[in-house]
Formats: sequence, C-alpha cells, structure tokens
Amino acid sequence: NQSGKNMAKSSQKPHAIMIAFPFQGHINPSVNLVMKLASKGCAITFVHTEFIHQMLSKSQNSSSELDLFAEARESGLDIRYTTISDGFPVEFDRFLHSNEYWESMLRDFPARVDEFVGKIIRSDPQSAYFLIADTYYTWPATIARKHNLVDVSFWTEPALVFSIAYHLDLLRENGHFPCKDNIEENLNYIPGVSSINTRDLMPFLKESSITTMEQKVVVKIFDVDEQVKKADFILQNTVQELEFEAISALNQKQPIYPIGPINFSTGFTKPAISQNLWAQTDTKTWLDSKPSSSVLYVSFGSLVQTSKQIIQEIAHGLLLSKVSFLWVVRSDIVNSNDTDVLPLGFADDVKDQGLIVQWCNQNMVLSHPAIVGFMTHCGWNSVLESIWCGVPMICYPLSSDQPTNRKLVVDDWKIGINLCDGELVTREEVVEKIDSTRSGTVSDGLKIEIKKVRTILQKALAVDGSSEKNFDQFLKDLKAK
Ligand code: UDP
Repeated sequence: NQSGKNMAKSSQKPHAIMIAFPFQGHINPSVNLVMKLASKGCAITFVHTEFIHQMLSKSQNSSSELDLFAEARESGLDIRYTTISDGFPVEFDRFLHSNEYWESMLRDFPARVDEFVGKIIRSDPQSAYFLIADTYYTWPATIARKHNLVDVSFWTEPALVFSIAYHLDLLRENGHFPCKDNIEENLNYIPGVSSINTRDLMPFLKESSITTMEQKVVVKIFDVDEQVKKADFILQNTVQELEFEAISALNQKQPIYPIGPINFSTGFTKPAISQNLWAQTDTKTWLDSKPSSSVLYVSFGSLVQTSKQIIQEIAHGLLLSKVSFLWVVRSDIVNSNDTDVLPLGFADDVKDQGLIVQWCNQNMVLSHPAIVGFMTHCGWNSVLESIWCGVPMICYPLSSDQPTNRKLVVDDWKIGINLCDGELVTREEVVEKIDSTRSGTVSDGLKIEIKKVRTILQKALAVDGSSEKNFDQFLKDLKAK
C-alpha cells in the first residue's frame, strides 16, 4: 500500500482528498484551493455534502458545480467530484435546526468520513493520498492517522484569529477564557499578537457563548482534542507580509503556509471562481448606469442575522444619505419569521436610489467602477475581496471572526471605519459614516491606505510573491513527507 504518509516513496502524484466545510464562506476558498492544487499537478477528490450539492444545483447559474469541474477536467486538471451524506435528508432545514445539525456533525459525521476515506483509498490503493480538511472540522487528525495520511489543515480566516484560538490555554490561565462579556482589557501575552483588547476577541470566546456550538467546536479543535495541533501542515488564507508577526510566532510551533488570497490565485485577469448556494441577481446593468465611484455596496455575508430594528436604522440611514446603494438583504437576515424587515414603503422610496437583491455576484460588484465603498460585516472573504478591488469598508461586525477582522481593517491597516461602537446603530451614524467614506479627508486617507494593502495582496500572488512561493514550498514539503 503506497498511499499514506510515505509520500516521498511514492512515484504517484500527490492526491488530495478534500471535504469542503458546508458554509458559503468556506466553499469558495476550498474550491479555489483545489483548483490551485490541481493546476500545480496534484490529483484531487473534492467532496461536498449532498445537501450543499443540492443547493448549488438549485442556485444554477452559469458555473454550476459540475460545470466548473467538468471544464477543469477538459483543460487537463485531475479533479474528481463526488458527494457525501451528512446524515440528514436534503429537506431538513440545517439553518433553522443548526444545533441539532451540528451536534450530529460532531457525533456522527466522523464515522461517515472515515468510511468514505477508506473506500476511496481501497478503490485505488496505489495513489499517494493526503487529506486536506477545513480547520473547523473536528476529526481530521483522527481520520488522517487512522488511514496513515498526511494531514493538511486549511484555515480560511486571518492568522490573528488563529493565533488567539491557538492559545486558549494562555487565555484560560489569564482568566480570559471564557472572557467576561463587558470588560475591556489589553492582552499582551499571546505570541505574535502585540496587543489586543478583549472587546476585539471573537465572540465565541465570551462567557455568554459558553453553551454555543461554536465554542464547543473551537475548544475541541484547539484545546481538548488539539486536532489542529496534530496537523502536518497548515495552509492559511492570508498574506505573510500582512500578518508577519502572528505567522512567524505560529511557525515556531507548526509549519504554517500563508497562501492567500486564495480566491484570486487563478490569475489577475480571470474573474474569481465562486460557487453560490443561492441564485445571483444580475446587478451589472444597474451598476453600468451609475457614475464612477457613486454606489455604496451593503452586504452582511451569507450567515449573520441581526434585528429588524437595526436593519430599519440602516435603511433610514441609506435613504437620508441619498447615496446610491446596492444592498443584499437575505430573506433570513433577521432572526424572526418577519418577512417585512424593511420600513413600510421603503422599496418605493428608494426606487431611483437603490437596488435591493437577495444575493449577487459580490466580486463582480466590488470590481465595478461604480462602487465607492462597502458596508460589510467583515467576513474574511469579504475583507479580502474588498481589498483586492481597492474598496474602503464601513465595518459592522456581528459574530465569529468578524470583530477580530475589524481590528485588522480599521485599527491596524486603516482601510475601513467603524459604523458604530457596539451593536446598536442609529440612522444618523449611518449617514455620517457613509458621507465620510464618499469624500473628504477620511475618504482620501482610506483610499491611500487601501492601495498599499492591495499592492501587498497583488505582490503576494505574483510569480515571485510570498503566497506563490509558500504554495510551492508546501508542495515540496508535502512530497518529501
Ligand atoms: N457573497 C456573494 N454574494 C452575496 C454576498 C456574499 O457572492 O450577495 C460571497 C462573498 O463574495 C464571499 C462569501 O459570499 O466570498 C461570504 O464570505 P464571508 O467570509 O465574507 O462571510 P460569511 O458569509 O462567511 O459570513
């Protein structure tokens, strides 16, 4: 059996088995990672859960899942696509019953993956398999060891967030895990993190999150089971020059390869590859009709929910500011059954001013010359996409890594401003922040800084760039394993 850890002894090309994490924000980086691996000569078995496959098929746009990989195969890339059941019928509402779903993903899914991986290996025992799994999965080290596979962990968020989670033990020792909800203290003891205020920590570390699934998962990965600490290699969707200290400190512990922004690594001229769980509304015609640098793009990503009151304040603020806007309002943006989340008559009031959609092609939007700013929840993909397109941000972080990403965007890199302090926002604040992003000294400063950061991202992906070199180094180290 040549599969397994002795990659160096195999004459076969490395063959990645990758099961994508079933969230939109993890799917795009995973797809782009496998395309990149395939373009560098790896074979890939790429797997979605059956539910995600169904959603992708339903959202059908020009590049459906199968089309994308079929095209890749035609151009000579060795990508095989298949699905795995997550144990629930396709109709089961995984968002509404997310606790039940994730309990089962923790408890029962690993056995399915184990069986699945075993079957793949048996089907072609000569292949030089390795496992790439999203860091947020709770089973990769266990499964990789059982099948004697090299274990590659893929982190889709910034190194800063990883560093904080990596040092849960230190946080606990210092009384900051779980962290009291309303304290503000500067932490100076996390290796590679010069200083971070407790208010910028990921909310899942807080006392109020003690019963959440997110905290349970993070503890399992970084602490109790130390799944990620057992990985052979860790790929991160960030850029070395942007997070140098955090990455260097982590590198003392495990081999870290910053290879971001992975979603753009297929080239500067081609559009970023994406797979969408929801159908995209065409926004191009509307954007084409707008003057250059005149439209604010507003989106809070694929998952977060907020209150109706906040959505209404933002709506009033947009109206009062008179800015042209393109707003993604998902049908589940508010955590209630209320379908009328926007103020009464809002659609009519803004019909010449704004376009409201449920989902769009965000990369196309951000790269459109009409866009002047991005009001964002600071999901890491959104941050990288905004930088790539040189669009300054108005930050409104709500959960998971977003408050910590906000610190990087606003405090460290100065390429965005805060929408407000805390979660409650008023329409007056919305107007004020939109105005300062559109013109004036704040706007000028943001534009200067984002150009610098954008250049760092572009350089990282150039032929001699750090992410490109790190990717090649990773492949070399993998083959030598
Ligand atoms: N996105 C999109 N269309 C939309 C809104 C979002 O294509 O209308 C994409 C966006 O480009 C990004 C992903 O969805 O790649 C969201 O990931 P992010 O990390 O920003 O946030 P999350 O959804 O994970 O909170």
